[in-house]
Amino acid sequence: MDTTLKKVAVIPGDDAAPEAIHPTLGLLRSLELPIEWRVLPDGNEMARTMSRAEAEDLVREAADSSEAVFFGATSGKTAGIGYLRWGKQTFANVRPIRWRPGYCSPLKHPEGIDYVIVRENIEDLYYGIDGDIQDLLAAGINVNSRIRPGETLEGKHGAYAVKVITEENTRRVAEFSCQLALNRKAAGHQGKVTCSAKYNMLRRTDELFRRLVAEVVAGYPDLVYEEYIVDDFARRLVANPHDLDVVVMPNLFGDILSDEGAGTIGGLGLAPSGCYGAEWAYFEPVHGTAPDIAGRGIINPTASILSAAMMLDYLGFTEAAGRIEAAIESVYAEGRILPVDQGGSASTEAFVARVRDVM
Ligand code: ATP
Repeated sequence: MDTTLKKVAVIPGDDAAPEAIHPTLGLLRSLELPIEWRVLPDGNEMARTMSRAEAEDLVREAADSSEAVFFGATSGKTAGIGYLRWGKQTFANVRPIRWRPGYCSPLKHPEGIDYVIVRENIEDLYYGIDGDIQDLLAAGINVNSRIRPGETLEGKHGAYAVKVITEENTRRVAEFSCQLALNRKAAGHQGKVTCSAKYNMLRRTDELFRRLVAEVVAGYPDLVYEEYIVDDFARRLVANPHDLDVVVMPNLFGDILSDEGAGTIGGLGLAPSGCYGAEWAYFEPVHGTAPDIAGRGIINPTASILSAAMMLDYLGFTEAAGRIEAAIESVYAEGRILPVDQGGSASTEAFVARVRDVM
């Protein structure tokens, strides 16, 4: 094990998210790894004690002085989180979808579902260029429909958003996906990369994404490549999830379909993620802040705990990451102390205590 001290900033987030992050941090501390934990205030505390600009500076400085960030989720109260993605250029959002015995899946045969969605994380419709239709007209941009001759935005009122797919970023997401597929193949998985997007309609953007991914995968003779139009793929994700290994998608579809994937194994409470840049990463559950259950102490911390395990693996604490995953597996298989969203009645704290006991 690497014994150099690592620095991790913990940003608990808003609403119910801190209720999952704090007990998970307790679990992580109990491993006594050479990690210096720096815990930032949760969103309410941030809003109460500092200006938004100060909070943004704090998040930026904490991210820049840490090897990784462990983050809950924000509904807006925790400021400056955009820096973790766009500021640190964490271009690949890795979202494993894996069923384990005891997970409350709505599918008849969830056994063996084990794949990873790589969601491009910084471009597409989330690039951040949008505005008023009138601005397009004023800028002299061609607002005539490519699809329907005669159809124009001229004289119309409303808003637009720009979908951005750059070659450089798509190539690095594709390379990342191939490396991941190779690593998984070495661990006994299929060695397959599946690309999905709406390339039949979005002939410039998603077709570029598809073509570049196909080109990059072609450079890996040990990998199999397949591609599906995203609406067809949404069905396959439910009907044939066992066929999947590594799936790469543009930002918006990756965001939506990874929630769908989480649904097939038993819900958002079970889905972890990591957002990787060239030399930095942060880790967060796929779910949001679950405001409807805030304050009740029942949020399922599994997604946070598994995100933490991904972080430990990234930091080189592979054995500790494996211990956490094995403990989660054993608590679900045992089925005695389960979170409410998995059909149990355990509080968040009670569930984490059980994971800690078997670790
Ligand atoms: P966002 O837009 O940030 O994704 P959201 O409010 O749309 O946020 P979530 O916060 O992910 O979505 O919540 C969606 C639903 O799933 C809510 O009913 C919430 O309570 C539930 N949920 C999400 N995460 C968990 C969890 N870890 N444990 C239990 N229920 C959860």
